[in-house]
Amino acid sequence: MKIKEMFFAEAIDCLVTNDIPNRGIIRKIYSEARRINKNNPLAYTGAKLLNDRLKKGSIVYIATGWANRPDVNREIWENDGPPGAVILARSLVLAKKAVPVVLVENMFTSQIKEMLKAINIQPLNINEAIKNINSPFPIVAVGVDSFPINKEDAISKATELINTDKVEAIISIEKGGMSEKGEIHMSSGRKTTEQTSKIDFLINEAKKENMLILGIGDGGNELGMGNIKPFILKNFPHLRKCICGCASTIVPDNIVDLLITSSVSNWGAYAICACLSYLNSDFHIMHNQEMEKELMQISRQVGLIDGQNGFTSVSVDGISLEANMAITTLLRETVKKFLEK
Ligand SMILES: [Zn+2]
Repeated sequence: MKIKEMFFAEAIDCLVTNDIPNRGIIRKIYSEARRINKNNPLAYTGAKLLNDRLKKGSIVYIATGWANRPDVNREIWENDGPPGAVILARSLVLAKKAVPVVLVENMFTSQIKEMLKAINIQPLNINEAIKNINSPFPIVAVGVDSFPINKEDAISKATELINTDKVEAIISIEKGGMSEKGEIHMSSGRKTTEQTSKIDFLINEAKKENMLILGIGDGGNELGMGNIKPFILKNFPHLRKCICGCASTIVPDNIVDLLITSSVSNWGAYAICACLSYLNSDFHIMHNQEMEKELMQISRQVGLIDGQNGFTSVSVDGISLEANMAITTLLRETVKKFLEK
């Protein structure tokens, strides 16, 4: 990496790995994730891998969504993850003319569609999204599809999705993955296996075809954390054992090509967008604070909750909307300054 790229990449990682939420975990898991990435900054590495690999029409599956109060109602979702997914999908369309497809649980697709429209993007099904990008008059659009919770259905859907032409990458953002006992746990140790799409099967299928697989997480219990599982178990006792009774760890097993850690998972996705902006010399590829605001207001309107404070809120992981808008602005400003010089 050239020295200017290195300074840029460091600046971006710095912005999204400050422990603003005061969870006491990010600095440690970031150091370890970075150490196993030959000590290279994480978001830039992920963006470069995507940028080099994707072409017009390349399909990228983006998995997100987490049921947050399954014991009360299985359709209460948390708002860390889905905003990152729709923002990253937008950037992949603008930067590469790719066909991102956001994958969520069936009962959650309508919320994702509303969130896409909040950032001026038309949600389409996969076939429409593919047709759109090859049309002489394409609109700015992103695919939305459901991914099954049931194991057998998930395996057959994984085969179908991976066998579609031009699939190049899978990105999971704040998504549950299976532990060594096949269960999916929240960071509190509660089980959400019965509410969560089994994205592990999509990842397993993608590995057979050498696709690029990125995992973004913030708490140690998300898909991608398998890359640093021994480190997490050694350093964070609360992630060693669930409270659901299955007696497994809370860290998923699956290994991905690159783990990206950030203080809030959405920010990890935003950091990739900033790097895609830089790599394509266009700071409009990074969203702005007005879009962040619109997006979070719609996210509240469709019922997503702040998993930390329990409000149906525009805050994420207890971090205010103003702070999320500020992070967005700081990332965008960094891109601008590095493109100017
Ligand atoms: Zn368990």
